[in-house]
Amino acid sequence: MRFSLFFATLTLLTATARSGEVRVGAAAVPITPAAGIPMAGYYSERGAQGIHDDLYARAVVIEAGGRSAAMVALDLISTPRDLVEQTRKEIEKSTQIRGADVLISATHSHTGPVIDRESPFGGQSDRVVAYLDTLPSKIAEAVRLAESKKAPAIVRAAVGHEDSIAFNRRFHMTDGSVGWNPGKLNPRILKTAGTIDPEVPVVDFATPDGLPIAIAVNYAVHLDNIGAPEISADMPATLARQLADFRGRDVVTLYSTGCCGDVNHIDVRWREPQRGFANASRMGTILAAEVLRTWPRLEPVRADAVRVRSTMVNLPLATIDQADIERSQEILRQMQSPKPPRPKFLDQVDALKVRDVVARKGHPIPVEVQVIAVGDELAWVSLPGEIFVELGLAIKQDSPFRRTIIAELANGAIGYIPSRRAYAQGNYEVISARCGEGSGERLVDAAVRLLKELHAEATAAR
Ligand SMILES: [Zn+2]
Repeated sequence: MRFSLFFATLTLLTATARSGEVRVGAAAVPITPAAGIPMAGYYSERGAQGIHDDLYARAVVIEAGGRSAAMVALDLISTPRDLVEQTRKEIEKSTQIRGADVLISATHSHTGPVIDRESPFGGQSDRVVAYLDTLPSKIAEAVRLAESKKAPAIVRAAVGHEDSIAFNRRFHMTDGSVGWNPGKLNPRILKTAGTIDPEVPVVDFATPDGLPIAIAVNYAVHLDNIGAPEISADMPATLARQLADFRGRDVVTLYSTGCCGDVNHIDVRWREPQRGFANASRMGTILAAEVLRTWPRLEPVRADAVRVRSTMVNLPLATIDQADIERSQEILRQMQSPKPPRPKFLDQVDALKVRDVVARKGHPIPVEVQVIAVGDELAWVSLPGEIFVELGLAIKQDSPFRRTIIAELANGAIGYIPSRRAYAQGNYEVISARCGEGSGERLVDAAVRLLKELHAEATAAR
């Protein structure tokens, strides 16, 4: 009896990190669907005609101060809440990590499968249903593998700057409106109506001997290069390949998307089309180059504890009236009919929004905001949709952490979350938004509150 207790204690001691030590593991598991699956990302149904490059669930597990957190990046369009909840349950079954301590984000590849069961563009198809049935266990497997590979680690961080591949896509136009993706060399453009976030946060996880474990990279640009009917991870595929050339093929590149609800890759001053695998490769190469330029400036991060805190925020619904509902029903009928006329794009966007808002029967939209802090210098924030860039910048500015990284499309996905300013200007993202004015600012407040709480805790513990 005493003997077995001794061994039990010994096992416990070896399984837990020594105080002040951080242990990190990483893994990537392919989640590529079979060809033929309906693809996400556009307002039409299209089946994947082939596989250009594999999609992955990439996971990093960090353990320090007796607590583990996992961060997962999926080469998918978004992270619907039911997917997040199922995956967290699977992770709890197969690892020591609490589901609430897992951050699941999407890169927003527009050339992956439909993953929204409600999507009118193939969400109910057998292929999508079968894909979604096995997805949570595949993602959990990436986390389980990452946990099993945990080893003592050094965490280093730096921030690069890249402003040549991201552009605000909203513009003041000569007719007084705010345009959305107005097209290259459009003579009616006066100037941009928003900004970008050029920061390229880089976090390197390596063994004390310098062997690579993982590299976390974050950047705020909407991923929609490819357009082709082939499965692809888009730009992060090139980023991961380039960083593997530098650090070795086993390194896991965890790419998360910053707040880019109104930022994409289209340079309206550049005449040439920017589409396809070529542009994805160009962007990935430029981003990788900035990571490598930043590399000599990596500084050690005191990673003595992992802290995680989440909160649920109720977001108000977008305002709609009876006339909106009647119009949307007619548009939805036209969308489902094979006969012309095809409704206008923004009318389709509006009709789908109204359908979703009606389905909520007046109930606000509950969403999660989560912060994972490593020590008192470094923190990740999760936000649940496509967030306007200025909201992300506000969080970074008000965060007491020296380095704050924001992963949008994480732990849920409710579509666009414009800034209050943009609601008055209208156009695509505002028409599409299921949540009402002020929602984005509520998320900012919640994130900043959590960051301050965790930072105070980290400071008090030192
Ligand atoms: Zn998109």
